[in-house]
Amino acid sequence: MKQSHYFLKTSKSSPTDDVSVNARLLEQGGFVQKVMAGVYSYLPLGWRVLSKIENIVRQEMNAVGGQEIFMPSLHPKENWIATGRWTELDVLLKIKSQHGYEYALGPTHEEIVTPMSTQVISSYKDLPIAVYQIQTKFRDEARAKSGLMRGREFRMKDLYSFHSSEEDMEQYYDKVVESYKKTFERLGLNALYTEASGGTFSKFSHEFQVETESGEDTLYVCEKCGMAKNKEVFQDGIECTACGLTTWKQISASEVGNIFKLQHKYSTNFNLKFTGQDGQQNLVYMGCYGIGTSRLMGVIVEKFHDEKGIMWPEAVAPFKVHLISLKGGEEQAEKLYNDLLTAGIEVLYDDRAASAGVKFADSDLIGIPYRVVVSSRTLEKNSVELKKRSESEFSLVEIGAIVSWLAK
Ligand code: ATP
Ligand code: MG
Repeated sequence: MKQSHYFLKTSKSSPTDDVSVNARLLEQGGFVQKVMAGVYSYLPLGWRVLSKIENIVRQEMNAVGGQEIFMPSLHPKENWIATGRWTELDVLLKIKSQHGYEYALGPTHEEIVTPMSTQVISSYKDLPIAVYQIQTKFRDEARAKSGLMRGREFRMKDLYSFHSSEEDMEQYYDKVVESYKKTFERLGLNALYTEASGGTFSKFSHEFQVETESGEDTLYVCEKCGMAKNKEVFQDGIECTACGLTTWKQISASEVGNIFKLQHKYSTNFNLKFTGQDGQQNLVYMGCYGIGTSRLMGVIVEKFHDEKGIMWPEAVAPFKVHLISLKGGEEQAEKLYNDLLTAGIEVLYDDRAASAGVKFADSDLIGIPYRVVVSSRTLEKNSVELKKRSESEFSLVEIGAIVSWLAK
């Protein structure tokens, strides 16, 4: 992609109405644009990052047998009345149409996926089964001041699983835990597996929490074994269930995932039953499993940046290489750009007629992992200058060898 024609303008001035690092860097870097508090447009750079995050999540969901679907955002009021959440869920966004109907904008999808499944699940032979989607959610959040970390419109992956027995539900839940660990690892994040309150349907739920100062949650982490508990459920003097110690340290963290054993909660509401081997009708056991994909993008920026800008982990970087041409290097840079494209390497090519200072500052702000500079100076040595965003030293690499080096 040539930067001269890319839908991208970086900005020197930081937004005044949001102090979070992720909001500042993502807006200044031209990844997202704030439409109003908690609502963002994703520009091409930002959409590439979000898509990469969501594709990693998608791959890991497919690996645990999840089948991808897509449900609507506009929900009938009746479904939310049926579960009691029309009045109980404080963040539910409700709308009235001019034709006298009332709707909810989906904050989560148990109210849609459960009645949907009554059409598909009728026998023990249909179970277990799991479906997921990656979708835009709406919540009427009181405060939306942490950039992508708390939106009123945001992205979430939600998986729902259906089982004939509690044991089967438990087994699948454990499988999803492993899948989540792998997902967050691939995203370059150390997510703490955390005990949290279970809501109304079970004793505990589990959250995946990333330590960051800007996180809104407080965790207690066992000093010895690293087991974590959310402050909401924590009692002073409590023993760690993993190692028996009672010394905990307090940290701030952001919840990037939450998984629940729903038991019969929603299958009762929508009469989701199956016929067992014995011919008896039984309620289906359900689990639900969320990951906040747009919050993840914000959290990644909170974790990976310096004073100059973002430092994307390679797995989610918008491009692998930022190619920059400086005076006298234009012709060779153009050729190298084409060679990189041919080799299938994702490259943003800064072909603009701007100063080295401007180009380097933008490159540091945008945070692409490898910067390659071609100028008359580097060409004198038949080379390009290669620098990792995460390092301060650069090296000269022979121009004929750079494509294969980057392809590695
Ligand atoms: P929080 O406690 O942060 O309000 P939650 O527990 O209400 O979140 P869940 O219903 O568990 O959220 O949703 C699943 C995931 O969706 C969360 O773990 C989080 O990563 C993400 N998420 C929830 N609310 C938001 C939001 N307002 N903006 C961005 N991501 C969100
Ligand atoms: Mg949660």
